[in-house]
Amino acid sequence: MGKYPQITVNHEALRSNMKQVISWCRDEGIDVAGVIKASTGMASVALDYEYCGAKWIASSRMEQLQRAKADGIKLPLMMIRVPMLSELSEMLEICDYSLQSEFSTLKALEEEAVKADKKHNVILMADLGDLREGFFELEELVDVAKYVEDRFDFVHLAGIGTNLGCYGSVMPTKEKMEQLVAYAEAVEDAIGRKLEIISGGATSSLMPLFDKEMPERVNMLRIGAISLVGPQEDLRTSYGRKEVDVLDEAFTLEAEVIEVKTKASHPIGKLGVDAFGQKPNYKDRGMRRRALLAIGRADFGDIDDLVPQLAGAEVIGASGDHTILDIEDCKDVIKVGDVVQFKLKYSAIMRLTSSENVKINEVDRLYGIKL
Ligand SMILES: *Cc1c(COP(=O)(O)O)cnc(C)c1O
Repeated sequence: MGKYPQITVNHEALRSNMKQVISWCRDEGIDVAGVIKASTGMASVALDYEYCGAKWIASSRMEQLQRAKADGIKLPLMMIRVPMLSELSEMLEICDYSLQSEFSTLKALEEEAVKADKKHNVILMADLGDLREGFFELEELVDVAKYVEDRFDFVHLAGIGTNLGCYGSVMPTKEKMEQLVAYAEAVEDAIGRKLEIISGGATSSLMPLFDKEMPERVNMLRIGAISLVGPQEDLRTSYGRKEVDVLDEAFTLEAEVIEVKTKASHPIGKLGVDAFGQKPNYKDRGMRRRALLAIGRADFGDIDDLVPQLAGAEVIGASGDHTILDIEDCKDVIKVGDVVQFKLKYSAIMRLTSSENVKINEVDRLYGIKL
């Protein structure tokens, strides 16, 4: 196979981002679970998190956590997608922590844990309105917590947590964080002891932290996106925050040019639908120079998640295996065989690192090695 398309992972940038995130959190008494799902669980990313001081390695995919364990990660592993009944015994082998939201799953987990003679820590999720996972009623959360506390010997109630900004785009405001702490305290009243963990969300929960609005008792965040994506994450969750300017993009995509021609900008003929059954609007900008790249939506998903580093270039469209770049306004002369670089947003990193068409080039100048 050829060299391209290729994604380059700059581990120095990655560790610098992680150290910054962990230091922001540490200043507020918060430990970080390093979430590796956005890079499809790359072992080197988990090792970077471990090196930088994360307290857990977390993923939403059991396969990724299994690999992290096999690759020598020493930190406790945490499953952050509520588990399937069909993966509980695997989970007990691989993970020390998981997020939970179903009583029936917890009961099955205790049964499996007794069989396996293995302790396991759970964080019960409270759904505070984002409407993905979690107990919706406080009363149910408290009842289940008390049941786990009183009746289970192998499954340990470590804490409660929440997730926001995923389905319902609900922001982790001061009020939501205070509500989470109030829920934790209701659980503590019922079980008669303090919880070890109050887990206040993901990257987006850095916003109340930056504003010094994070209640003191929130002591864990589960962070992936911003460490990997750096400032490109800005639009999704951090709404133009100055704080993220110190971060760096750690992932760069390189794709090879396979055709360069001047063509009409509006398609010619009777228009139906494109490769994905859509009817896009095409603007007639006259004849324009364009470069065709050997990479496509099968690899990266959506063209909006690619940020071309070639000045004047614009991604105007893509099919499964081709991407079209308008280069009419580029100062540089682009020719077949050239390589174009892109910075990447969250979902492009997730897809590109899992595409078998894309080579992964890991560079680490600290160790002077190519991993
Ligand atoms: C993905 C995920 C995270 C991490 O989110 P980022 O935006 O990548 O920081 C945290 N918690 C849960 C439950 C998740 O699914």
